[in-house]
Amino acid sequence: MNRVILIKYGELTTKKGNRKLFINGLYSHILKKLKNLNVNIFKDMSRMYIEYNSSDEKLILKNIGEIFGIHAYSIAYKVETDLDKIKEMLTLVLKEKLDDSRSYTFKVETKRSDKSFKIDSMECNNEFGSYILKNFSNLKVDVHEPDILIHVEIRKEFSYIYLNEYKGLGGYPVGTLGKCLLMLSGGIDSPVAGYLAMKRGIKLDLVYFEAIPHTSLEARNKVIELAKKLAIYGLEMKLIIVPFTKLQEEIYKNVEGNYSITIMRRMMYRIMEKLAKRFKSLGIVNGESIGQVASQTLTSMNVINSVINLPVIRPVACFDKLEIIDISKKIDTYDISILPYEDCCTVFVPKHPIINPNLDNCLKMESKFDYSSLIDEIMNNLLVITITNEEENEYSDIL
Ligand code: ATP
Ligand code: MG
Repeated sequence: MNRVILIKYGELTTKKGNRKLFINGLYSHILKKLKNLNVNIFKDMSRMYIEYNSSDEKLILKNIGEIFGIHAYSIAYKVETDLDKIKEMLTLVLKEKLDDSRSYTFKVETKRSDKSFKIDSMECNNEFGSYILKNFSNLKVDVHEPDILIHVEIRKEFSYIYLNEYKGLGGYPVGTLGKCLLMLSGGIDSPVAGYLAMKRGIKLDLVYFEAIPHTSLEARNKVIELAKKLAIYGLEMKLIIVPFTKLQEEIYKNVEGNYSITIMRRMMYRIMEKLAKRFKSLGIVNGESIGQVASQTLTSMNVINSVINLPVIRPVACFDKLEIIDISKKIDTYDISILPYEDCCTVFVPKHPIINPNLDNCLKMESKFDYSSLIDEIMNNLLVITITNEEENEYSDIL
């Protein structure tokens, strides 16, 4: 039997004008994701079909479950569009899939996209339903809560039969809505923020601020491990490692303790704006969540945000910590995030960071040292590596 994986598009089908763009984006993402496997992919305006070797089935299903822009997918049986041939295939599929010592209720759901086909969807349901009743004594109809839903999709040349459907990740294909830079720390929030941004079709490059020797190479490795998890969804992404030590030390020399985090985050944002320009990104994504810490009150956010002119997307801004943790477990970043290596933000945390910083005070403190030339120096000393989700990449040369 000729099996294919049938893919139903996600939200992209609602974007009429851009439909082609989204479908092509999804197509190239699937091709890249399955590049090591022997597959043929066919696409039309409402479905994609993947032909594959049966020994790769499990692996392909796993990979398809990691791609944004897919609403649902199933293993479907392909047959020529002909009433008798479809019936024959129905028999084969039901014989293979069902246990003949058990009884089941069923319902046939036909979708006829080939309007020239001689009978309409309702008539197909009746035709196939009564055919099944005649040939399978252990099957009975239940149109409300059937044990098995038999899908038949009738298209011009070929038709497809499938029983089960897997739920896809939804969202838009990564890259179809532009690129942003994700501020990726070793914490729980930022990988989740990155995942959610990618779900909206945003391609990401990643930025990690580090303060060696105050932070360790283990902390860097932790960020690389998190980045590899994000690369499951984003495929290839750059990780930009920002040498933040000197600037951070200057902040702590020149700024009153309770303002140090506020000023540090203003500096991070200034650097992010320069990086966005250099790496051709349309915005910044981070894991800030309202009220979580002093620098994430609305007053703090205003004072920090005022140094830049780019959209800052905060996908977890309104999530509870427990909701964020749930997602981090689902995407398998939680266990990495809770490893105990210190981040540059936590190394220098003052006892009482200010909750309601004042912009004039920030400007006064910042005028005490030449941060612009330190930022220029940072921009000349970035370390940029390429992250992929492939196991063989160990990045040992930078650890
Ligand atoms: P946690 O999950 O423990 O809250 P966090 O990474 O969210 O950790 P925060 O202090 O809440 O830490 O920082 C808010 C956001 O700022 C982070 O989600 C991240 O996007 C960004 N950020 C913080 N530290 C760094 C860093 N060293 N490099 C890059 N981005 C950072
Ligand atoms: Mg946080």
